[in-house]
This record gives sequence, structure tokens and C-alpha cells, in this order.
Amino acid sequence: MLKRGLLIVISGPSGAGKGTICRELIQKTKDICLSISCTTRQPRFGEQHGVNYYFVSKRDFEEMITNNQLLEYAKVYDNYYGTPIGYVEEKLNTGKDVVLEIDIQGALQIKKKYPKGVLIFVVPPTLSLLKQRLSDRGTDSEESINNRLNCVCQEMTNTTRYDYLVVNDKLGNAVSQVEAIIMAEKCRPSRF
Ligand code: 5GP
Repeated sequence: MLKRGLLIVISGPSGAGKGTICRELIQKTKDICLSISCTTRQPRFGEQHGVNYYFVSKRDFEEMITNNQLLEYAKVYDNYYGTPIGYVEEKLNTGKDVVLEIDIQGALQIKKKYPKGVLIFVVPPTLSLLKQRLSDRGTDSEESINNRLNCVCQEMTNTTRYDYLVVNDKLGNAVSQVEAIIMAEKCRPSRF
């Protein structure tokens, strides 16, 4: 019988490099898919609908909530973000592993619904490096960066709710660690 795929949640502060880790993962492994979230936030320069996010109106998002079309959702920095249920369930049922790049509020909702889901928190080696990465990205205003940095300290106190913590000092190492976690999780007797 086909085994259901593994649901992997990757969270961490903006600028910790979780997006890059996810992209590397799906490029390296054909059986891992990345879920595309819906959001009510405005696209940043270069972001594309259906690639980075599905950019939707607040009204459409609230309709998805009402119609139970979201696996989880949360309000982050005054915008809604949520995971469409259809894609994730379809992939898991065909034995594919699915990665969700979501915040802690969503991660905890996932853990309740999918106790076998694996929660990984990615951190930068230092806060000053995080600030540097956010500035270098050039997509956020000074105010937005400071706002995000303020949230980081709060987020960090919740990392014990996650199954694993990965320090992203070197991208290659961080990706290897996430791959090792996934491999180990797939060998758990409870998954056979
Ligand atoms: P950004 O606006 O920088 O793309 O994302 C802001 C935050 O929202 C990040 O922490 C990101 O992981 C989180 N996020 C993105 N998509 C989702 C989602 O579908 N659900 C939840 N709960 N958080 C999300």
C-alpha cells in the first residue's frame, strides 16, 4: 500500500533563510513539494501570483476560511496568510512529502491536526546577521525591518514547541540537516 507522505513545517524569522532552504530542498528531491500559501499582503517587487503566493483579497480569504478551504491560517503583520487544503491533501495521499513555510501560529495548528507532522524552526546564527540579511534583501522598509526584529525575540521563546531547531550558518549545512531530519522521521516505526 502507498504510504502517505510526510508533512514538514518550516518556520523561522524572516531573513533566517527558510525560503532558500525550502527551494534547495525541492530542487534536490523530486518527492518533496512546496505548498503555495494564500495571502492578503501586497506582492513585493518580483513576486508572482501562483509562484510565491496566491495574492487574494481580504474578502476572498475570509470566504476560504468560511468554506473550510484552509488547513491553517494566521494573521501575520496585519495580513492574512493560509495554506490551501486541496493541494496538500492531494500530494500527501499520493505519497509525496509536502513542505509548508509558515509562521508559528500556523505550525501549532498543523501539529494539532497532523500529530505526525514534523515541525522545524530555522534560526540565523545571530540577530545582527538577521538584520543585515533583511536590509540586503532590500524589500522591506526600515520600519518593517524593526517590526520584524521585535517579533523575532518573541518567536524565539516558542521554539521549544518545535521538534527540531536548525541554525542556518551555512546554507549547505542547514539543508543537509533538514534532509537528515526528514530521512530520520521517515524511519519512525509509527510510519510503517
Ligand atoms: P512574508 O510576508 O515575509 O512572505 O511572510 C511573513 C510570515 O508569514 C513568514 O513568517 C511566513 O513564514 C508566514 N507565512 C507564509 N505563508 C503562511 C501561511 O500559509 N500560513 C501561516 N500561518 N504563515 C505563513
